[in-house]
Amino acid sequence: MDHIRNFCIIAHIDHGKSTLADRLLEYTKTIQITEGQMLDDMDLERERGITIKSHAIQMEYTSDNTKYILNLIDTPGHVDFSYEVSRSIAACEGALLVVDATQGVQAQTISNLYMAIDHDLEIIPVINKIDMPNAMPDEVEDEIVDLIGCDSSEIIRASAKTGEGIPEILEAIVKRIPEPKGDPKAPLQALIFDSIFNSFRGIITLCKVVNGSISKGDKVKFVQTGQEYTADEVGVLKMDMIPCPKLGTGEVGYIISGIKDATEVKVGDTITHVDTPCKEAIEGFQEVKPMVFAGVYPIDPNDYENLRTSLEKLQLNDASLTFQPESSQALGFGFRCGFLGLLHMEIVQERLDREFNMDVITTVPNVSYKVYDKHGNCKEVHNPSGLPDVTAIDHIEEPYIRASIITSSRFIGPIMKLCLDKRGELVSQNYVSGDRLELIFLMPLGEIVIDFYDKLKSISKGYASFDYHIDSFRPSKLAKLDILLNGEPVDALSTLTHESNAVALGRRMCEKLKELIPRQQFDIAIQAAIGAKIVARETVKQVRKDVTAKCYGGDISRKRKLLEKQKRGKKRMKQIGNVQVPQKAFLAVLKLD
Ligand code: GDP
Ligand code: MG
Repeated sequence: MDHIRNFCIIAHIDHGKSTLADRLLEYTKTIQITEGQMLDDMDLERERGITIKSHAIQMEYTSDNTKYILNLIDTPGHVDFSYEVSRSIAACEGALLVVDATQGVQAQTISNLYMAIDHDLEIIPVINKIDMPNAMPDEVEDEIVDLIGCDSSEIIRASAKTGEGIPEILEAIVKRIPEPKGDPKAPLQALIFDSIFNSFRGIITLCKVVNGSISKGDKVKFVQTGQEYTADEVGVLKMDMIPCPKLGTGEVGYIISGIKDATEVKVGDTITHVDTPCKEAIEGFQEVKPMVFAGVYPIDPNDYENLRTSLEKLQLNDASLTFQPESSQALGFGFRCGFLGLLHMEIVQERLDREFNMDVITTVPNVSYKVYDKHGNCKEVHNPSGLPDVTAIDHIEEPYIRASIITSSRFIGPIMKLCLDKRGELVSQNYVSGDRLELIFLMPLGEIVIDFYDKLKSISKGYASFDYHIDSFRPSKLAKLDILLNGEPVDALSTLTHESNAVALGRRMCEKLKELIPRQQFDIAIQAAIGAKIVARETVKQVRKDVTAKCYGGDISRKRKLLEKQKRGKKRMKQIGNVQVPQKAFLAVLKLD
């Protein structure tokens, strides 16, 4: 136990986390970089190594003739996954705080840093990229001293590119980070911090043994789910899974127990023995519930079953994704998917496109609402079109978040305005370090889901960290805004919005849709309605244009190209009634200015 060091790397994106991790793996000979020597049939092996590396990896390192086991635990890089980050941090005793010497401390690092400090992790500050000609290590050093109140002598200057500073970092890991604490004789308590889907072995649970130990063949129980399993295999993660007879206190490794369904392995859950269970679960567990929902529809209705299979496959290694069938008058058959947040939604969309080649339309995202009827019954609604008739509704509650924004004082004005416009209430305002401030707001999650990140980023020039967690459900005066095309309501374009914003939003949506819907053979009326009341109207004028006309009848191949181009353009259109609506129109509401 005294030779184990568990650590993670906290860094802003692009500051060099992955490159530095590779240098550490190389220096400790965990991987050998032999460029050009990799054989083709090694590809699979190599890929497997990458999967493991991106979750947790073990290194061996010798200092003063003592052999140490170093476990590097990866932390996911963005706000929707902050709960997962908190569990990875909870599994560590130390963290490398990596700051780019050309960029300085970036705000997004700060919330993870605070999380690490909250969990009493030993922080090793590292200034990376000192090889760059525009590096400013002295300035960055001052910033770090300001931020964490360390001595400047504790800060290591390094280059993950040239390898400078790597030996110092490894020495600091073994000398400064404490060994894991824990009682080897206590009942087993292992913290689940991640899981990997493997097509041969099922779901592989990654955990840190906090107390006691777990051996191959043990009967174990996952406390939160109450499920019992046999630990068919336990082991540690190097570039491959290395089975071993037992994982002792403080060790990090994996357990294979025949689990097929990713949802059974909950990050933050405690593993214990069936016969001698621990008295309490490890604290900090949270049930992660999707909070943002959107309809996902195949462009080609024949792809419906393919889409279902793709979503099922995605769910295997992304337990926080949920989906259930739904149908829309406008879009046909599809699924209502639940996501942790907007960025999670983008990741899923990207993967459907890249890994599964699925052409889909995603509707405007919305949050989960609690709708109360006059008798006090509550119904959760995940889709504006699922809202009961107004007359049947007593009141609606929407989720509020507690948002923390850390930024430089010079951006406070515009950020305040943005948050207040988004119905935020300022809770507090505290100095962090230098001129850096933390603003705490209570805000409706629904306002974050639409057009918030981009605005925050642009008004703060990227220099604002944003972090949130769900606070509570609160009553809100919400209105359902419908969009009609030639008199037909398009359910996929309906949104729920605060009463005070509804008319303005309706107007902007009509204007935006007018820009996005191409002229067709007839006039198209675009209307916004709240209940039976039309609040805005635009018209797309008819056109009767022969696209091939400008080819002067001459060049056949050019003509054909043009027609093909037009056909491809059509594929991204959806027929609604008699109107062709381009895919991007369904997300129009996200891009309103
Ligand atoms: P991550 O997003 O934190 O994982 O960052 P990466 O490790 O992917 O690095 C981002 C970019 O910075 C890559 O192009 C790296 O090659 C480059 N980089 C990382 N460390 C150094 C360094 O010490 N010096 C220089 N010159 N470039 C570096
Ligand atoms: Mg990276």
